[in-house]
Amino acid sequence: MALRTGEEYKQSLNDGREVYIDGERVHNITEHPAFKPIIDVKARMYDMNHEEKYKDICTVTLPDGDVICRGYHMPKTKEDLQAIRKYVDTFLDELGGVVYRVGDETIGEMWSLFDAQDRLNEIDPTYAENIRYHIDRIARKDLFHVSANTDPKGDRSKLINGEDGGTLLHIVDENEKGIVVRGAKFETAAAYANQAFVKPTISNWSNTSVNMENYAIGFICDMGAPGLKHICRSPVGAGKDPENYPISSKFEEIDTLLIFDDVLIPWENVLFHRSLESAKYIRETVHRYSAFNYVLRILKRADYLLGAALLNVEQTGLTKIPSVQEKLTELITYRETINAHLTAAIAEAQETAGGLVMPNQSLLYTGRIQALKHFPAMAHLARELVGGQLAVTPDMETITDSKIKEHIDRYYSVGKWSAKERAKLLYFARDLLNSSLAGHQITFELFAQSPPFAQSTAAFKNYDLEPHREMVFKAANIQPDAVKN
Ligand SMILES: Cc1cc2nc3c(=O)[nH]c(=O)nc-3n(C[C@H](O)[C@H](O)[C@H](O)COP(=O)(O)OP(=O)(O)OC[C@H]3O[C@@H](n4cnc5c(N)ncnc54)[C@H](O)[C@@H]3O)c2cc1C
Repeated sequence: MALRTGEEYKQSLNDGREVYIDGERVHNITEHPAFKPIIDVKARMYDMNHEEKYKDICTVTLPDGDVICRGYHMPKTKEDLQAIRKYVDTFLDELGGVVYRVGDETIGEMWSLFDAQDRLNEIDPTYAENIRYHIDRIARKDLFHVSANTDPKGDRSKLINGEDGGTLLHIVDENEKGIVVRGAKFETAAAYANQAFVKPTISNWSNTSVNMENYAIGFICDMGAPGLKHICRSPVGAGKDPENYPISSKFEEIDTLLIFDDVLIPWENVLFHRSLESAKYIRETVHRYSAFNYVLRILKRADYLLGAALLNVEQTGLTKIPSVQEKLTELITYRETINAHLTAAIAEAQETAGGLVMPNQSLLYTGRIQALKHFPAMAHLARELVGGQLAVTPDMETITDSKIKEHIDRYYSVGKWSAKERAKLLYFARDLLNSSLAGHQITFELFAQSPPFAQSTAAFKNYDLEPHREMVFKAANIQPDAVKN
């Protein structure tokens, strides 16, 4: 059986990887306070796949009898896409919080390459072979697979900054074993993942003014590879008390600056190299599947915003006021708009050149823009509905201090809500809206899958504008041939 247990996943991280955080070299990552909570969450996901209750939702049996995780099963029908949606919903509900980089969201980038096999075959047939090999390997070995797209770029007026090929990841050597790469990438979850799909940077790959061939690379990199250094940002949730910070203490995903200090990438891991055409293709299509799983997370976050705001106004009796209902309806509308995009993206799913079925691209990418653009305003609305208690409530130690119980009960309990239960709700809302992690999440959501301008470009390129030209030509009685360039 291919499925790993949580314990097997944890053991796989014990591979000598070079991880740095807060001025220390991490030796036992599964027990380190910055990583332990999120590694435990990922381990729980692995264990869920073995449980009777979740097995049918979380796993798929292949024709040869091997069992793999649902999230790693390539979609060939709309039902497959629906099953992936159910799988993500199920594990997020079981975890009781939102995690982004746990595998299902990143594997889709490999499926985008699978769809390009014919084009890649024309460049080099081993590329398509390697892609198929790795998609199969990830699923059957149940690897925790993540994604590295973004290089630290330096001066944006130049394409290449610095000496010796600059900071963008590039090839420095090529030999019988593989390619040797130098550069850096930002990557969430890299320090506790097994491998990453490393891709060329977001750039204008049609630009021929600079020779970019050495930069046009895509490969699989083992996260314990010699020469690879994980330089991690400081945690904001580590060590926080779970009662006071129910989200930060459990669901913080650590981001890494991955340094490729002349790392050898064996040929079987090279998905394409020195291929401008492949670099251009992957940048245009990279999120065709994974944006769905990403937007699903935003939907779940919208659910939590709505739930936290609702319970807070219900306990104080404010729901009876029409203008409060109007504000809740705004949150409902936000939630349902995302839901509608995701539902329609499956209903109108599209067949791909690779024989797969992908979510409808236009509905998906416009849904991603809607979800991300309005999230800060919706979070602010939820903050407004929860009220000032969000910022002034003392921590649980004080709320349960027997010396002041009489006062706490008098001033903090409302109706059937004891001071303690009410505080729990406020701590949850604080961690969702106001804590350091809440702030970090907003930046994460804005950038982690790609910056807003790149998301707009994806939506623009995937929308068919021709019918709109034709409609106006017809309605205004314009002769198309006379005006078209
Ligand atoms: C918390 C967090 C987690 C991340 N996780 C990952 C990850 O897992 N994997 C990964 O690969 N990357 C990750 N990233 C990196 C992320 O993808 C980049 O931050 C993002 O692509 C923006 O790149 P940049 O930071 O270099 O910004 P810049 O390139 O400096 O852009 C900054 C801003 O300048 C403007 N701008 C820049 N160029 C243009 C342009 N051509 N047209 C219009 N406007 C422009 C935009 O407003 C843009 O938002 C993460 C980032 C954060 C903050």
